[in-house]
Amino acid sequence: MNIHEYQAKELLAKFGVGIPAGIAALTVEEAVAAAKQLPGPLYVVKAQIHAGGRGKGKFKELPADAKGGVRLAKSVEEVESFAKEMLGNTLVTVQTGEAGKQVNRLYVTDGVDIAKEYYLSMVVDRGTGRVAMIVSTEGGMDIEEVAHSTPEKIATIVVDPAQGFMPHHGRAVAAALKLSGDLAKQAGTIAKQLFTAFNALDCDMLEINPLVETKDGNLLVLDTKMSFDSNALYRHPEVVALRDETEEDPAEIEASKYDLAYIKLDGNIGCMVNGAGLAMATMDIIKLNGEFPANFLDVGGGATTEKVTAAFKIILRDPAVKGILVNIFGGIMKCDIIADGIVAAAKEVNLQVPLVVRLEGTNVQQGKDILANSGLPIVPANDLGDAAQKIVAEVRKVS
Ligand code: ADP
Ligand code: MG
Repeated sequence: MNIHEYQAKELLAKFGVGIPAGIAALTVEEAVAAAKQLPGPLYVVKAQIHAGGRGKGKFKELPADAKGGVRLAKSVEEVESFAKEMLGNTLVTVQTGEAGKQVNRLYVTDGVDIAKEYYLSMVVDRGTGRVAMIVSTEGGMDIEEVAHSTPEKIATIVVDPAQGFMPHHGRAVAAALKLSGDLAKQAGTIAKQLFTAFNALDCDMLEINPLVETKDGNLLVLDTKMSFDSNALYRHPEVVALRDETEEDPAEIEASKYDLAYIKLDGNIGCMVNGAGLAMATMDIIKLNGEFPANFLDVGGGATTEKVTAAFKIILRDPAVKGILVNIFGGIMKCDIIADGIVAAAKEVNLQVPLVVRLEGTNVQQGKDILANSGLPIVPANDLGDAAQKIVAEVRKVS
């Protein structure tokens, strides 16, 4: 789960992390009121969307030479006019895709006199099973680009969970940022605070880009992205409360209500599978046969009629779907029960696209008989390869 910049900064401030003063705003009036509460005379008005690259982004509704989603305002009047330009409009950045994202919230914050921008992020490194800090002197820019063109400018510092964050980790961060004296000390402190927050909040990613050195010699977090391990959210109701559903895919929200693991993809073959591994294999074999999956969907262990119906509806929300491949292994659930569910669900949603079903497992023959006798144009398949070939042939017939 992701949250907005201002929410992440408010969380980090509780751990002592230095952030510029700022206030979130949902309307132009609130933005003006926020600016009046800040010391000024420089303000930065920042579009709050779950995507980076806002500064260099473009608003669809504004002229091509208009400024992006991070703007320096020199007066309260400028804050007002920027808020008017941004709210309700669609910001397109390198991370939003072409469709962009509508800006519904702003963050009005102190303008900071920046001496230098740095990069610092933390992720769970699955390879080592530890939290890795990624640090670079090249802040404020696209870190993927830095990694590509000047990888020597990126340092990775791994923290052993049994040991925790030690003073030497702080010194390593400061050294990687080429800081000395008081700034080096501040870098150690801020790295430790961020590490503490990362663990306490069960983050899976925390990115500070940029971390800035101000002209008066302080290190501040100027921009932050924070995402959380969804398996640990039950421990953090205060984090769940920050969820902004308008930033999420409506189909994915609907799926989560039915406990379906659904992720929308760009292809035209909808997939309904039980088990994440089988779902991955199903997507692979569709690709191997020359088409692309429209989604990942794991219906989980209990493929009930209710769940299968919900899954069909969610898959069919995507107008790109030209056919559906159901690939279910009846282990705990028996194939005849699953077949009943598929038939009932296909009738309920009045399925109009070709449907290929591959069933395997307990009572497979009864299951196949139910599908064959359903009166529905369901194409049966015997194994994974057969299923993929059949669904690819079917969607090619209709498109
Ligand atoms: P994004 O990464 O989405 O473009 P940032 O918050 O990183 O958004 O802003 C982009 C750039 O704008 C920063 O690298 C920094 O140079 C400048 N900036 C952002 N916030 C402030 C601020 N409060 N004061 C001064 N400059 C800022
Ligand atoms: Mg940034």
